Amino acid sequence: MAVQTVATTADTAASPVDLGPAAALSCRECGHRIPLGPVFACEECFGPLEIAYDYSSYDTEELRRRIEAGPANIWRYAPLLPVPADVAEKPNLNPGWTKLVKADNLARELGVTGGLYVKDDSGNPTHSFKDRVVAQALEAARAFGFTTLSCSSTGNLAGAVGAAAARAGLRSCVFIPHDLEQGKVVMAAVYGGELVGIEGNYDDVNRFCSELIGDPAGEGWGFVNVNLRPYYAEGSKTLAYEICEQLGWRLPDQLVVPIASGSQLTKIDKGLRELIELGLVEDKPYKIFGAQAEGCSPVSTAYKAGHDVVRPQKPDTIAKSLAIGNPADGPYVLDIARRTGGAVEDVTDGQIVDAIKLLARTEGIFAETAGGVTVGVTRKLIEAGVLDPALTTVVLNTGDGLKTLDAVAGTGLTATIRPSLESFRSAGLA
Ligand SMILES: *Cc1c(COP(=O)(O)O)cnc(C)c1O
Ligand SMILES: [Zn+2]
Repeated sequence: MAVQTVATTADTAASPVDLGPAAALSCRECGHRIPLGPVFACEECFGPLEIAYDYSSYDTEELRRRIEAGPANIWRYAPLLPVPADVAEKPNLNPGWTKLVKADNLARELGVTGGLYVKDDSGNPTHSFKDRVVAQALEAARAFGFTTLSCSSTGNLAGAVGAAAARAGLRSCVFIPHDLEQGKVVMAAVYGGELVGIEGNYDDVNRFCSELIGDPAGEGWGFVNVNLRPYYAEGSKTLAYEICEQLGWRLPDQLVVPIASGSQLTKIDKGLRELIELGLVEDKPYKIFGAQAEGCSPVSTAYKAGHDVVRPQKPDTIAKSLAIGNPADGPYVLDIARRTGGAVEDVTDGQIVDAIKLLARTEGIFAETAGGVTVGVTRKLIEAGVLDPALTTVVLNTGDGLKTLDAVAGTGLTATIRPSLESFRSAGLA
């Protein structure tokens, strides 16, 4: 599907909000267009809505210069995002422009010869990729006059929303499954907003939030991943932009991306296609591989079975940030994996832990379980001959290992000794 551009003044006239190049909401299923607003489903067919842009006025080299002269955060790409032009001057967490690490040691270990990179999003303000998406939703919340920022979260999003609301001076009230990792609970609570544990899994939390939106109790609330979802989702495009710019305005050959709802993977593909269409990178094939945990693998199960629909699962995995049993963007992920010649694969909890340790040992990067999923899937796909080790490959690490310490709980002291050389020697450490 091409980048959608509009030239009609009717759309803009009906959209008084200023969200930069965002021109309208467009249905991904039937193409029906409506003015920008806090809605996420098509009134015609209930399909998901996404942002349609007007990029028609951009000159490629002028745009490239503007981006390169921009701040070292996601706002360097403001001309391609649903945000007002002065976004960088407003109080927000300024996420992004995280490191693209050339992972030569890991490459040697995995037998990759074509160049292996880790896009390390643990370097964001609240230590996960979620700051990128929340920053877009915050601008939409401001534009639509919401006073409370909310979300249903598997953990990382709750922290990102709490922090962004604190910086922006908004109220926040977020909802999580009651049994999350302690690191994520503390991280979500410390910013001072309200944090509510729901007795149930993420899919129950999400259902509850949908009910709250339709109720007077939810009036004035911007749920970043529900009624603001079209705006929120666009934040993942910045991962694609950054990876290509950091590679010298070049597309990678292969990307390995984690899947929770599938939004991130879907919008990385959208971002790559926009760069091609805008002429910022040379057009060439790229493959997108999706990564799940075996204990929550609705998309990889459908992929392997050759299905177009995704059957919901009940999650049971240590990769809790990816534990969405009924992923909203699952069918789109299947389309993208098949269209680009990629695949969707899953790994066991044991393989996730091994991969976390492998990445830490080889590259000094401590990933959360989601990073263990992508590195583990990369290894599995190379061994299976599905991922080509001779091609340039980018693996995403989307979160910080300090939030999921339990996953590597067996890791600890090499020895405990008395403070003497004799004791050091007898422990076999000399
Ligand atoms: C939310 C999240 C993702 C991806 O989520 P999607 O719903 O697929 O966009 C990946 N990694 C981590 C650590 C996350 O918190
Ligand atoms: Zn529709």
